[in-house]
Amino acid sequence: MTGQTTPGEFDLIRHYILNATKQRDDVVLGVGDDCALLNIPPGQQLAVSMDTLVAGRHFIPNVDPTSLGHKTLAVNLSDLAAMGATPAWATLSLTLPAAGATWQNWLGQFMQGFQGLAKQYQVQLVGGDTTRGPLSITAQVHGFIEPGQALRRDTAAIGDKIYVSGTLGDAGLALRDQQGQYKLSESERRILIPRLNNPTPRIALGIKLKGLAHAAIDISDGLGADLSHICTASGVGAIIQAQQIPLSETVQHYVQKTAEWNLPVSAGDDYELIFTVPKAQQTAVLQAVHSVSVPIACIGQITADQTVKMILPDGNTHPLGSGYDHFQ
Ligand code: ADP
Ligand code: MG
Repeated sequence: MTGQTTPGEFDLIRHYILNATKQRDDVVLGVGDDCALLNIPPGQQLAVSMDTLVAGRHFIPNVDPTSLGHKTLAVNLSDLAAMGATPAWATLSLTLPAAGATWQNWLGQFMQGFQGLAKQYQVQLVGGDTTRGPLSITAQVHGFIEPGQALRRDTAAIGDKIYVSGTLGDAGLALRDQQGQYKLSESERRILIPRLNNPTPRIALGIKLKGLAHAAIDISDGLGADLSHICTASGVGAIIQAQQIPLSETVQHYVQKTAEWNLPVSAGDDYELIFTVPKAQQTAVLQAVHSVSVPIACIGQITADQTVKMILPDGNTHPLGSGYDHFQ
């Protein structure tokens, strides 16, 4: 056991963790021993990703625990989606301020959100750690991918078309509303707040893009920053058209009102996918994606000149790149 022992630690694990998710056939041993024992299907590689959520930095401490449980797993699954991997297992490290009734209640709600999404993607929680300290949550996910099929960041090629899924800027505008910097109407809030608190990992889309798209990344830091990651890793540049960026009605209205493109371009937390497609595969991609009910839009093209630029509606060109950086 790590961290500070509390009398309730094992009770918490038994009650809220042990049978939180459904048993998978490839789990020989899950929660309860020193290690989990897991079978990777023959001919598959393991795709592994981890994300930490710290109170006050990634979420407001009094955020709805059920949403936080959902988001903890969602942001991790989003990384698997961006590689085209199929989710399988998760581990979860919880640092809770105390083990009293308030935090038990909190954990119950948190696990409800986590379980809901785990069930949707047949993910089994196979282990983790529970300690006492300032509220912080780390989850790791494990998925399967055939060798050579992963959608990496470093495989964009000059001439590839750049696509994004869904709509951008929704989570960012919801955050501005929550922080009192912008006021959404009640009906707008009903649509946009879930985009911030309960993002949908684009797992089905990622799997469809396997073997067809060149490069992919999920948008956690913003379109400009995450597209730049692809370009840097691939040694290429990009040019996108602001007017082609898919926007929800509310964000469209916001951009019209403020003439400010910073929101859809720099706000993070949308967890949509950016992916690049060679011209020859465009029809195949559109066909493959048709069965997944996620809209995709072509917003630009990969270029040779190593800069990432956006053409604004007035014809001016604007450099892109800066997004959210924890150390700036
Ligand atoms: P150890 O002392 O061997 O590290 P622990 O006492 O920390 O084991 O945990 C007991 C069991 O419960 C282990 O199988 C561990 O993986 C699991 N576990 C503890 N906390 C969590 C958690 N937050 N989520 C999932 N599994 C957990
Ligand atoms: Mg431990």
